Amino acid sequence: MAQISNPLPTADLQALDAAHHMHPFTHGAALGAKGARIITRAEGCWLTDSEGNRILDGMAGLWCVNLGYGRQELVDAATRQMSELPFYNTFFQTSHAPAIQLAARLAELAPGDLNHVFFAGSGSEANDTNLRMVRTYWELKGQPARKAVISRWNAYHGSSVGSGSLGGMKGMHAQGGMPIPDIHHIDQPNWWAEGGDLSPEEFGLERAKQLEAKIQELGPENVAAFIAEPLQGAGGVIVPPESYWPEVMRIVREYGILLIADEVICGFGRTGNWFGSQTLGIQPDIMTIAKGLSSGYLPIGGSIVSSEIARVIGDAEFNHGYTYSGHPVAAAVALENLRILDEEGIITRVREEIGPYLKEKFESLTEHPMVGEASIVGMMGSIALTPDKARRAAFRGEEGQIGLMTRERCFANNLVMRHVGDRMIISPPLVISKDEVDVLIARAWKSLDEAMAQAKSEGLFVAA
Ligand SMILES: *Cc1c(COP(=O)(O)O)cnc(C)c1O
Repeated sequence: MAQISNPLPTADLQALDAAHHMHPFTHGAALGAKGARIITRAEGCWLTDSEGNRILDGMAGLWCVNLGYGRQELVDAATRQMSELPFYNTFFQTSHAPAIQLAARLAELAPGDLNHVFFAGSGSEANDTNLRMVRTYWELKGQPARKAVISRWNAYHGSSVGSGSLGGMKGMHAQGGMPIPDIHHIDQPNWWAEGGDLSPEEFGLERAKQLEAKIQELGPENVAAFIAEPLQGAGGVIVPPESYWPEVMRIVREYGILLIADEVICGFGRTGNWFGSQTLGIQPDIMTIAKGLSSGYLPIGGSIVSSEIARVIGDAEFNHGYTYSGHPVAAAVALENLRILDEEGIITRVREEIGPYLKEKFESLTEHPMVGEASIVGMMGSIALTPDKARRAAFRGEEGQIGLMTRERCFANNLVMRHVGDRMIISPPLVISKDEVDVLIARAWKSLDEAMAQAKSEGLFVAA
């Protein structure tokens, strides 16, 4: 079989990369000076770079390769669909089998009356759809004043103008005129960093009640929706206190506000159920999906929408859509991905076997002198780095310095583990084996040791 191989030596690729390729969320000049790591192949949970290093992928690509790399069935599904019908649109009263079957399958899997799917090419696009859909819904219901959407600081909902505004990343808002009007942010339920002297339960309630206060401040008649990730992912894998979501559910119901659960990371098995909403006891009106929907093999996203919203939106023409909404090849691959997740019992294995195993091993990292807490649900977890566990202290110096140092050590030790500020996060493929979990934990521990030694030698292991 034909194989795609590395066409040029690493240094040449790096030079061309620096000369012509602009990277997302990257300091271009700094990367150019250093040279990007070039990934050439992958199999299971393992990446190979252009120098032949084998790297354990603790992030499933970018939270998306739930099935792991190298699944031939997905390649075959794409090949079949490409030769049969590589593209047709779903505008203008046409449709095709892959989009139809995928929508029907998602309606079957999604909880409650979430029975309708609007497809997009990515999570960002899907959240742009959601923003317009909830406002259009209220207009069609005769309540056009309901425009405000409430979100949370340190949420991640994508990188387009709409979805980036919905997100709560201050660094993103600082560039390019965001947020757009009528989007409002409340504080996140991050007890470790912001809980002060409150117990986690008290703190969870306090943060949930901020939603009620914001609704009252804006006037309930002006609020369209609340959007949130069941568990914040890119914000650092923040697991809210158990008191948080029940109180949020009470508030959105009491004020009749729509709830958008952004399931782009939590969906498709990552938390041990098909959707994070099921794990956390949330009943949303809309779920945003992408990433694990196709295990990242092809770009596809969408919104799974309640029957009520679909009925109201369907009574008019919704002037919205993407060329690649329901792209047949991406949809065929997603369907095959869902079939494998189901038939191989991968989500049950996350809930009952590999998830609990990973949790036990991952929580053992709190025995490391630099690790204050471990938070993990299913196959997404984070540890907080600290120079003083008892005080939950941050490091003096710039936030994220020690996290970056630790990530660099992970990189050198052939483990992909990301940092968000001074939290280290993992989100491995759901198919990871117990032996591979052991390798992940051993490499993480070694990297923590090396980073702590470096921080101490540079005088940075000091509490703020
Ligand atoms: C990644 C992500 C998005 C954006 O998805 P893209 O496919 O990158 O546009 C939206 N929401 C959440 C929770 C995400 O993690």
